[in-house]
Amino acid sequence: MKNVELDLTPEEYFNERLLKAAACRRLGIAADAIGHVNIVRRSLDSRRGIRYHCNVEVYLSDEVYNAPDYHSDYQDCRNGSPVVIVGAGPAGLFAALRALELGLKPVIVERGKPVDERRKDITQMVRSGSVNGDSNWCFGEGGAGTYSDGKLYTRSTKRGDVGAIMKKFVEHGADPKIMIDIHAHIGTDRLSGIIANMRATIKEYGGEIHFGKRVEGFVFAGGRVSGVRCADGDTFEGDAVLLATGHSARDIYELFHRNGWLLEAKPFALGVRVEHPQKLIDDIQYHGSNHSPLLPPAAYSLTTQVNGHGVFSFCMCPGGIIVPAATADGEQVVNGMSNASRSSAFANSGIAVTVSQSDVPEYAKYGALALLRFQQDIERNTAAAAGGGLKAPCQRLTDFCEGKGPSQLNRTNYMGQCAPVELDKVLPLFVAQCLKQGFRDFDRKMRGFYTSEASLLAVESRTSSPVRIPRGDDGQHPQLKGLYPCGEGAGYAGGIVSSAMDGIKMIELLQNDLTKTKTLN
Ligand SMILES: Cc1cc2nc3c(=O)[nH]c(=O)nc-3n(C[C@H](O)[C@H](O)[C@H](O)COP(=O)(O)OP(=O)(O)OC[C@H]3O[C@@H](n4cnc5c(N)ncnc54)[C@H](O)[C@@H]3O)c2cc1C
Repeated sequence: MKNVELDLTPEEYFNERLLKAAACRRLGIAADAIGHVNIVRRSLDSRRGIRYHCNVEVYLSDEVYNAPDYHSDYQDCRNGSPVVIVGAGPAGLFAALRALELGLKPVIVERGKPVDERRKDITQMVRSGSVNGDSNWCFGEGGAGTYSDGKLYTRSTKRGDVGAIMKKFVEHGADPKIMIDIHAHIGTDRLSGIIANMRATIKEYGGEIHFGKRVEGFVFAGGRVSGVRCADGDTFEGDAVLLATGHSARDIYELFHRNGWLLEAKPFALGVRVEHPQKLIDDIQYHGSNHSPLLPPAAYSLTTQVNGHGVFSFCMCPGGIIVPAATADGEQVVNGMSNASRSSAFANSGIAVTVSQSDVPEYAKYGALALLRFQQDIERNTAAAAGGGLKAPCQRLTDFCEGKGPSQLNRTNYMGQCAPVELDKVLPLFVAQCLKQGFRDFDRKMRGFYTSEASLLAVESRTSSPVRIPRGDDGQHPQLKGLYPCGEGAGYAGGIVSSAMDGIKMIELLQNDLTKTKTLN
């Protein structure tokens, strides 16, 4: 087997015969000498010409290629040490799967519903304009990652084993191609089945998952957190608790604040979702309209600095849909998702501006919750400006930047309704100023990005957690031994993959602690 790098045109990449011919040329061997070409890694580069950069394994005709086995070695954990995991998002689910490998018994406690029932609540939410506070785009089985674009790209490669996360997705039904794609994505339509398969694995090996259980407090034993108390009075107990409730679980932050348990304000980002016709983005990224029809809907990633603030594209969804992601009535939040095919006619992306405590001194009185209160106020004002009912304030990009009224709107792919609103009225001045300059900077990087064909929808505010739940090197909260804050809600991760890796890291630290404690006893 030979390992080679190939630079392929889309036509070569998508045609096995041409792919083999390129490998032959690279190795200087005859076509019939090759048995199988296995692509190990690929990335699409459209900076100069359009090329798939591929790392491939070439098997000669007398060599055997064995397809990888993605099955994990789970143990039956019915008699293992029970560990309570709050939240069935990526952090909680991947922690539970790792617990099964370590012989611990995961007991997941989740406020929302299983994916299928959750989908019905989401449909109802769009229809009625009213939010179910326990079952929505952020809450329910799979967490905020279920009805998402399912992008699996992370920059946090040093925080854990990205490959191990991909393998678990493939093991539960994802296309093995995610193993090779630098910018892999799954898509909402596939994710729900994958999440349901993860649940089946957890149950098959003796783990538990309890839905409709909103955690409102902790149970203590021997000076440690040993369980949780739910809104309906039920309690779940174990040897320790992993808290993976995501960045929208404001009631959990309030619980800590009320009890005087340590919390920290954490910078986050705020902005709008921009939507362009996908064709326009394709033509920019693929250098004109004459590009290969084999190419996928194009993506982009943009960043600039304005007045000391980072302005950046976030969660870009080619061929996507804009969704209402509020978790309570009276709030307005937008986010993006897409199906596996990314086949909608629109490209959307969050465009966000970094916000830290020094930007909002008037909120200092709220201490660790300063940025959370600021985020909440913006979401409420945005809802009020649009008339409520999940209506999204909307304005054309050029009208916003040029200070014109929102009299004319483009057609958009938002799941709710759009209301013409001057976004200057809902965004803080410093955010609006940074966005206006940022869009002009982006146009210098991507000519044509600044266009009246683009729409802006508000508000993109659930970018990351505005609060951190601190933890020590042992993974435990400094004051609450036995409690392991974890994932995006604890402020230690952002995105599906990094949250999943954090879940794994925390359950491993938790197991170390349990082993040490048992050895001492
Ligand atoms: C629409 C949308 C699209 C996205 N697209 C992408 C993408 O393409 N790629 C990407 O990497 N990231 C994406 N994200 C972000 C990603 O989903 C999150 O970063 C990730 O899900 C965080 O994982 P987590 O497990 O830490 O928390 P979450 O996924 O938020 O999960 C937390 C879980 O805890 C539960 N919970 C909360 N409070 C309680 C309580 N009191 N009691 C019991 N249970 C509770 C919630 O119901 C939820 O299931 C998207 C997010 C949204 C909303």
